[in-house]
Amino acid sequence: MPRSPTVAALIVAGGRGRRAGEGVAKQYRDLGGRPVLARTLERFLDAAAVAAIAVVIHPDDAELYAAAAAPFAGDARLLPPVHGGPERQQSVLAGLETLAGIAPDAVLIHDAVRPFVGRATIEAVATALAGGDDAVCAGVPIVDTIKRADAGGRIAETVPRDGLWRAATPQGFAFAAILAAHRAAATRGDHAAFTDDAAVFAATGGTVRMLACPEDNVKLTTPEDFAAAEQRLLRDAFAACPDVRVGTGYDVHVLEPGDGVTLGGVFIAHDRRLKGHSDADVALHALTDAILGALGDGDIGAHFPPSDMRWRGAASAVFLADAVRRVAARGGLVAHLDVQIVAEEPKIGPHRAAMRAEIARIAGVALDRVGVKATTNERIGFVGRGEGIAALATATIRLPL
Ligand code: MG
Repeated sequence: MPRSPTVAALIVAGGRGRRAGEGVAKQYRDLGGRPVLARTLERFLDAAAVAAIAVVIHPDDAELYAAAAAPFAGDARLLPPVHGGPERQQSVLAGLETLAGIAPDAVLIHDAVRPFVGRATIEAVATALAGGDDAVCAGVPIVDTIKRADAGGRIAETVPRDGLWRAATPQGFAFAAILAAHRAAATRGDHAAFTDDAAVFAATGGTVRMLACPEDNVKLTTPEDFAAAEQRLLRDAFAACPDVRVGTGYDVHVLEPGDGVTLGGVFIAHDRRLKGHSDADVALHALTDAILGALGDGDIGAHFPPSDMRWRGAASAVFLADAVRRVAARGGLVAHLDVQIVAEEPKIGPHRAAMRAEIARIAGVALDRVGVKATTNERIGFVGRGEGIAALATATIRLPL
């Protein structure tokens, strides 16, 4: 192998996710707001050693793939998707045949549903191939005691764990050798029996070397795997943002005759409406100011001046979304939003759940991170006399230090 081999990656994303139940295939499922496949692709695009990436997909998933790959559309290293076959090894062969067109020296084959693969692992496999290995398999040495049990769950034997590994991906190969091995398996007719590419390669008599990767390079298979992955992403995101900030916001708008009010992004039919330049949603305005306050970044009037005709009649979701975008632009996240609406009429209670859901949607946070409460003003003061509706809000955000 030459000293600076051309390394391609082949991401196997053709599976239908049957083991994880109904719904969209696992590799396209949302994980922390992005498809699993987008996260996997990002890891390989971040690896300097990888010169080209081919993804094998199911023909029915063309639209899902386009959406997942959209953020990387400008990156020439990402090749057009390859349509795979019904079995994994047919898909791998289809991908390898496509890559043969650019004839890389080496290829790293990786499961799309291992989105936590580290750049260090990708680079280590590539480096081992550059150093003369023909086949390298990432994996984790087994530390647990291994039992073999019969169909009734009774232990038949304790399997010596010396030399036992859990195979993972990426698995890296000299390109010509793995292409030949897959073609040979397809010709023999036992292709589908192999569960990984190291086994396909070994069947030709070649030697595969194991290379230790971190435990967290997990394959997402079950709903429990996805739940654990979500928790992990959240934990990592919060840990990266230790600077906790709290901001407050207050807003009030005058009531006038009309056909309804918009509060918390929800229209409520009523014989009055709120007077204002935008839709006069006091709840979203107070929340927007609370976030801007936590950021120390002015207020809603500074960013969206009432004198600007663009905001005439605007849905106030625009303002809240902009404040959340400013948090994201600082590398931060919104941890909690709480708003208190003060109104004699209309009744807020029947609409509270809808408001909460709408605020969570606009802010892109989980429902349990949003509080919506309402009270009257006991018929005293301007709110009590029905002259207007007020809202107070608190936002908790987290920023990197
Ligand atoms: Mg306002």
